[in-house]
Amino acid sequence: MPLGEFELIDRFFREAGGRRGDVVLGVGDDGAILRPPEGVDLIAVSDTLVEGVHFPAGAPARSVGHRALAVNLSDIAAMGAAPAWSLLALTLPRADEIWLKEFTEGFSLLALEYEVSLVGGDTSRGPLMVGVQVFGFVPRGLALRRAGGQPGDLICVSGTPGDAAAGLALLTPDAMVGAGHKFRRDQGDVVARDALRARFEYPTPRLVLGSQLLDLATACIDVSDGLAGDIGKLAAASGCAAILDLERVPRSTALAALVRQGVFEERDALRFMLTGGDDCELAFTVPPESRHALSALEARGEVSVIGALVEKEGGSSLVTVRTEHSRLRQYLDALPLSFDHFSNA
Ligand code: ADP
Ligand code: MG
Repeated sequence: MPLGEFELIDRFFREAGGRRGDVVLGVGDDGAILRPPEGVDLIAVSDTLVEGVHFPAGAPARSVGHRALAVNLSDIAAMGAAPAWSLLALTLPRADEIWLKEFTEGFSLLALEYEVSLVGGDTSRGPLMVGVQVFGFVPRGLALRRAGGQPGDLICVSGTPGDAAAGLALLTPDAMVGAGHKFRRDQGDVVARDALRARFEYPTPRLVLGSQLLDLATACIDVSDGLAGDIGKLAAASGCAAILDLERVPRSTALAALVRQGVFEERDALRFMLTGGDDCELAFTVPPESRHALSALEARGEVSVIGALVEKEGGSSLVTVRTEHSRLRQYLDALPLSFDHFSNA
C-alpha cells in the first residue's frame, strides 16, 4: 500500500534529529513554537539540493540526507553560530520507504551529532529536491560576517579544499567533460578514491571551528562555490583585494596520491582546489598579531594560512593567485573563478 503523506511525515520526520528543550511545539501543528534564549541573535540559513544539479541522479539517499543538512550547518558555522532548529521541504517523485528510511538516517545522524531538532517542513510530489532551513544562535552582536577583514589580515582555510570536487568527479565522469579530457576514474589507490568520494558524500560542517573563530576572525565565509571565488566574495565585502599563494593551499594526501598515480592531472587538482565547491570548509581572516592563536590548529593541519588581504586598488583584480612554478600559470589562467548557477546556464 502506498504511503500517505500523513503517515510518511509521522514515520520519518516526527522524531528525526535531536530533541531540544527550547522546542515548545515541533512537527504536527501548523507551525512550530520555538523559544530562543536571552542574549542571542538568531541566525537563519537556507540551502536547497536538486537532483542532477547538486548531487548525481541516483545518489545514495543517506548521503543526500547528510549533505542537505551539512551544507546548511556549514553556513551556520561560517556565522560563528551554534545550530538549534531545522525545517525540511522535501519534494519526492514517489514515497519510496527504503529511500526515505536511509535519507532520514543520514539527516538524523548529523542532526543528533550537533543537537539540531527537526521542527517542521513540507512534503510534496515532484522531481527530487531537498530544501533545508537551519536556525542557530550566536551571542548578541558577535556573529561573523564576510565584511570586516582589513588589509594585512591573514587569509586562512580549514581542511583540504578540493577533495569534495575530486570525489564528485570520481562519482560522475561527466563532471570532467569541461576539462577537455577523460581521466582514469577506475584506477589508482582504492583508499584514496574512497576518501575523496566520502568528502563529497559525507562532508563535515566546521561548527567547532566556527565557534572558536568568534573572538578571533575578522571575517568568515563558507567555501561552497570554490575557494578562490568565495575568498573573492569575502574580500569584496571587506572592501579589500586578496592574494593567495598556491603553494600554501593544502592538498590532501588522497588527492596528491591520485595525481601521482595519473588518475588526475595537475591541472585537475588545481581546478578542484581553487574552484571546487561542496567541501563545507571555512575561509576566514585573522589579524597577523593573532596568528599564535591558530598555531594548535595549524599544527594539526586543521587550518592553513594561504594568503593575505591587501588594499583594493582601482582596476586591480579581487583575487590574485601567485605561484612559484611558472608552468602552473597557464592552468591558473584557464580557471573560472567560481561556479555561478546562472552564468553557466
Ligand atoms: P499544512 O498542510 O498545515 O502545511 P502539513 O500536513 O504539510 O501541514 O504538515 C503537517 C506537519 O508536518 C507540520 O508540522 C509540518 O511542519 C510537518 N512536516 C511536513 N513535512 C515535513 C517534512 N518533510 N519534515 C518535517 N516536518 C514536516
Ligand atoms: Mg504544508
